[in-house]
Amino acid sequence: MSTIVQKFGGTSVGDTKRIEAVAERVARTQRAGNKVVVVVSAMSGETDRLLGLAKAIDPRITGRELDVLLSTGEQVTIALLCMALAKHGVPAVSYTGAQVRILTDSAFNKARIEAIDEHRVRADLDAGRVTVVAGFQGVDENGNITTLGRGGSDTTAVALAAALKADECQIYTDVDGVYTTDPRIVPEARRLDRITYEEMLEMASLGAKVLQIRSVEFASKYQVNLRVLSSFEEGTGTLITTEENIMEQALISGVTLNRDEAQITVAGVPDRPGIASGILGPVAAANVEVDMIVQNTGADGTTDFTFTVHRNDYDRTVEILEKVAPEMGAKGVRGDRKIVKISIVGVGMRSHAGIASRMFKALADDGINIRMISTSEIKISVVVDEKYSELGVRILHSEFGLEDAANLHNA
Ligand code: ASP
Ligand code: MG
Repeated sequence: MSTIVQKFGGTSVGDTKRIEAVAERVARTQRAGNKVVVVVSAMSGETDRLLGLAKAIDPRITGRELDVLLSTGEQVTIALLCMALAKHGVPAVSYTGAQVRILTDSAFNKARIEAIDEHRVRADLDAGRVTVVAGFQGVDENGNITTLGRGGSDTTAVALAAALKADECQIYTDVDGVYTTDPRIVPEARRLDRITYEEMLEMASLGAKVLQIRSVEFASKYQVNLRVLSSFEEGTGTLITTEENIMEQALISGVTLNRDEAQITVAGVPDRPGIASGILGPVAAANVEVDMIVQNTGADGTTDFTFTVHRNDYDRTVEILEKVAPEMGAKGVRGDRKIVKISIVGVGMRSHAGIASRMFKALADDGINIRMISTSEIKISVVVDEKYSELGVRILHSEFGLEDAANLHNA
């Protein structure tokens, strides 16, 4: 008998018809001989609605009472789903996070799971009952209700799967898997059968918003097999798993596009120790996160220091640097909001040389100028002009043969 955790997001439980469809799917999984734990989100739009109510009273609301409020959304869906399961003849029992005892720290609105007591859930499963658990919520050691941050139901599902040593954690959502790139940009984009945790983490942090990043970190840490599937169509989705479970590893698994960044340059800074910290210190103090950084010294002995920040932080950062720059003897501050970051991701690049030069040549052949580069073990990112967003993604997707399922090695 396998133990399977199935998580259904807000659109999948968006109305009572859909909740009944979820019940049918859960019933089928159980009748096929599995022990099933279900994790649900609030009905779509509900968390935003509740947040709106709170903000109508205090626009800057945070803290304990917000979690008491937001956690109610999931409590509605667990009850409705159990009613629907009962109607289908499936014995089911619902639990809030506190009832299971999903123990978290006390960081309200963004709590982290510390431990899960799986005994109650296990007893139900052994007795042949489906257990339906409210996602996104837990309880701290003082009995306060906490929530895990937006999208947190994914993390509840993975954490439960880890605690129960489940065979698989299935995330049912409105897309049918993880794609080689955004199909709206490249119609030939392909659903990946398998991808490693590491690659998924890179793709998620680069903007592929299929799963809450923390859920992938959790899955990676406890080696939970995580599958993303559509709740509206049949299919096998994408399995996110260990490298060992992926026999034929592609060189490149995906191309991502991030439109959220902006570029800033502090020009003509005298080249001496303390430049980087002199520039980035005040930026960090203002809680602005810096992504890519490039620094180089010209023949005249001065340095141009260029980096990227989130576009929302652009004005604030330029303002800070315009104050700091004169003190450092810099010639000036300039910036550009109209840039994008395009990245290729793949664990295969660890064992292959020449991927970067191939990427740069493909872009150059089409006249795309690269403004910044950064690399990690399994990722290469470039900053280019915004006008090349779609073209750049298409060129790289085709350069590495990602549209071709047979072309696993991107020859
Ligand atoms: N309902 C919460 C949200 O909308 C948690 C989740 O859906 O995962 O963010
Ligand atoms: Mg979600």
